Amino acid sequence: MKISPRQTKIPVGISQCAMGDPVRFNGGHKHSKVCTELLGQCFEYVPLCPEVAIGMGVPRKPIHLLVDRAGAEVDAVRVVGVEDPAVDVTGPLRDYADSVVPQLQKIRGYIFMQNSPSCGLHGVRRYLANGHGIDSEGIGVFARRLQQQFPHLPMEEVGRLNNSELRENFLTRVFAYDAWYRYVEGEEPAEAEKQPSRTARIIEFYTAYKYLLLAHNQDATRALGRLLADAGAMPEDELAQAMRGGIMEILSRPASRKDRTNALMHSQGHLREFLSKEEKAELQQLIDEYRRGLKPLSAVLTLLRHYLPRSPHGFIHSQVLLAAEPAELGLCDFR
Ligand code: SF4
Repeated sequence: MKISPRQTKIPVGISQCAMGDPVRFNGGHKHSKVCTELLGQCFEYVPLCPEVAIGMGVPRKPIHLLVDRAGAEVDAVRVVGVEDPAVDVTGPLRDYADSVVPQLQKIRGYIFMQNSPSCGLHGVRRYLANGHGIDSEGIGVFARRLQQQFPHLPMEEVGRLNNSELRENFLTRVFAYDAWYRYVEGEEPAEAEKQPSRTARIIEFYTAYKYLLLAHNQDATRALGRLLADAGAMPEDELAQAMRGGIMEILSRPASRKDRTNALMHSQGHLREFLSKEEKAELQQLIDEYRRGLKPLSAVLTLLRHYLPRSPHGFIHSQVLLAAEPAELGLCDFR
């Protein structure tokens, strides 16, 4: 199986204030150019503001997360008014998240606004009833509910996407999640029909992602391979769930230079027999320079791709690690 590039933008949910819409409690917005101008080149956004959607209006009184002690369970929170704790919108926010689940079935990622008691994904400040901040271990109630509804969906915060490594990792996860639905779940019937069964498509998918997964976590990738090999009579739905979850978890850990070097060495191994002595030495030197931080990954990938047509073997041609980056697909022209 070779995963071909998607020809249309990928649907991704986003906190509406990040789009520049004035929906914040104070009537402002938090426009993110990284989201709208950069990632907007490959994402088709589905903007939602849960607080406006439940009728809180703009402007509105601020709300925050309330707990009864430091370190309380993530779901043991209420979302209440800062000035009037009797205003409790926990239930409406959770119900609203549940209500948009059908609308979000086609999204392949979600970008949340940080520090929000509704949308924050990491480290949201939590308060005691006396108004004192007690810890920063909260997750916005809307974001948390969507996490539970879509456990493998790639999610990230707006602010963290300013970091190029985290942005690349989010893109990798969104593209993988999208590819899973297109190939394994048959959203592209023409592709799915080429494979005899869904189980066969799961195997093909794991195989195509193998070297990319190795670049993120070698041990977990091998464990996932063993799970697949031993799947035996495991029900197909169960296998699909386990594999999709395993793949998304592995990709959520940023690739290290060491693990990437290892995956590049594996790729090189498939091409060596087609290279001259000088070409082998040049490729080996380039990988070594990448390992030592002297050359960028793109330099190694470019040379590997240059030699790729010499190999007749389908396995190495199928590797997503060596495939075109999102930026090269014409969808994300931001490098
Ligand atoms: S953070 Fe979420 S709830 Fe707050 S304004 Fe933005 S979209 Fe609305």
